[in-house]
Amino acid sequence: MITKFIKRIFRRDPMIRHTVAHSSGSPKRIPKKTHRIDPHLLSKNAVKVTQTLQQAGYDAFIVGGAVRDLALGIGPKDFDVATNATPEQVQKLFRKARLIGRRFQIVHVTFFGKGQPEIIEVSTFRALLENAGEHLAENGRILRDNVWGSQHEDAARRDLSINAMYYDPATETILDYHGGMADMQKKTLRMIGDPTKRYREDPIRMLRAIRFAAKTGFTLDEATRAPIAKLGKLLNDVPSARLFDEILKLLMSGYSWASIQGLKEAGLHHGLLPLLDHILDESADSKEANDFVRIALANTDQRIQSGKSVSAGFLFATLLWPDLLSNWKKNIAKGIANIPALHDAMDETIASQSSGMVIQRRFESDMREIWSMQPRFEKRVGRYPYRLIESPRFRAGYDFMLLRCASGEKNPALGEWWTNFIASDPAGQDDLMAGIKNEVGNSAGPAKRRRRRKAKSALPTEGAAD
Ligand code: ATP
Ligand code: MG
Repeated sequence: MITKFIKRIFRRDPMIRHTVAHSSGSPKRIPKKTHRIDPHLLSKNAVKVTQTLQQAGYDAFIVGGAVRDLALGIGPKDFDVATNATPEQVQKLFRKARLIGRRFQIVHVTFFGKGQPEIIEVSTFRALLENAGEHLAENGRILRDNVWGSQHEDAARRDLSINAMYYDPATETILDYHGGMADMQKKTLRMIGDPTKRYREDPIRMLRAIRFAAKTGFTLDEATRAPIAKLGKLLNDVPSARLFDEILKLLMSGYSWASIQGLKEAGLHHGLLPLLDHILDESADSKEANDFVRIALANTDQRIQSGKSVSAGFLFATLLWPDLLSNWKKNIAKGIANIPALHDAMDETIASQSSGMVIQRRFESDMREIWSMQPRFEKRVGRYPYRLIESPRFRAGYDFMLLRCASGEKNPALGEWWTNFIASDPAGQDDLMAGIKNEVGNSAGPAKRRRRRKAKSALPTEGAAD
């Protein structure tokens, strides 16, 4: 698998054509009064790119997801431009332009302004597979991908009709090759061409279709939806890094819960995406797990929709928590002490994912930190809480613990106590600590705790960040 992946990355395409073919197939021209795109939603830099290219005699349009979002009245998060200029020709026109990619070269044009630099991705129209002399793998997947073509061909290679519209800011006109605007009005998502063939070429398109259905609230056209259940297994052949990226996009779309329901309805089920198995599982045993994950995803969606950041490590820590919890319990039942049982469970849980999607290392360390902090929230004695709030990742661990309370796994009083503890001044914190000591009949009461601390003194401390 790894060698296959490396080979693919390093494959260079010998078939780059340096002239761009003439366009055939005429698009529908959609005027402003129909598409009603608000020019204020446009990126000035994207407009600068199309203008510069047009002034140099090339065709240039804003394309893809940005046009879809603009036509929906949403401000796009990034802007792509498509042109008939080759990457080298594009590069010559801009001061800060970099050629990116081996398999399919594109140009990143960077603009520096007040805030973050903005990158406009400029790609040259791509040829259709059959015209590019490309080869498909036996299962129909695209192997070679770097031949320039006409705008008409470029449109036909895109996935959904609503993602295949070209907007010219100069004339405020959309060029629509595949009835994207009509589909948008019908609130329909339709794969361009024969959906089965398109999914075989690139199985990721199935996940994209489901993600956009969740995001737009549109319905998948029957011919687009129907083959997914049967072809879902093709996702097994997608390099795991790409699958991981796509799942991450789906989970971070702000519509993760709806997307996951969409995966389920489309028949993308067990074994394909081990990380999602629990969420897709309807059995009674998994009710608690489902509740936790549902609350966590709803919380993530809310944060993203209100423009807040979400860490992928946090997100994966929540998705794998049900697994972790059951491994932890099993280890304790085997007689392993609480904290080592948790650490073993973390190893087991992460290892169990490697058969499908590889969780990248940078997320793994965040996950471990959040998980290993959890028992520390229950240790409300001595200086422990004071030290815990000083951990660099305290906030993530605390948010995670609140989710456990919200799902009923932990008593909500624990979350409230911590919320008060964070908000209090030192005297107030001391009062809260004293309050714990005075709780009569509390299993975490003082006498029992003192005894336990002595007995456990040989155990390793639990916090990774301590
Ligand atoms: P967003 O960026 O909001 O997730 P997007 O549609 O812009 O959505 P990108 O991944 O940025 O998604 O892709 C830009 C465009 O490239 C798409 O709109 C689509 O036209 C085309 N595209 C992307 N991925 C594929 C694919 N797997 N198959 C065919 N066309 C694709
Ligand atoms: Mg995009």
